[in-house]
Amino acid sequence: MSERTEFAFYDGNSLAGPLSEVFAVELTTAVGRCRSCGKSSEVATFRVYGPEPGFVGHCPHCEDVLLRLVRTPDALWLDFSGVSALRISMPADSTGS
Ligand SMILES: [Zn+2]
Repeated sequence: MSERTEFAFYDGNSLAGPLSEVFAVELTTAVGRCRSCGKSSEVATFRVYGPEPGFVGHCPHCEDVLLRLVRTPDALWLDFSGVSALRISMPADSTGS
């Protein structure tokens, strides 16, 4: 895995633009649990390689792939299969009672 450190990578904030095309909430502050090591980290702390041919976000703890994001001219492909759970902060529900 040390070879990977020879390449430049970005933090998860680089995913803010493409993710905002799909999600109405800010996902870089969401916390994802890694399927491999079980540790949780903010999307903003993911180690992101890309953007060509797509973004690949790695776990900051174990380096396994957490997500892949590819933007084509007419679609956005999003693979979160490396994340076992994603906690997204939401405003308090004001629709109750
Ligand atoms: Zn991990």
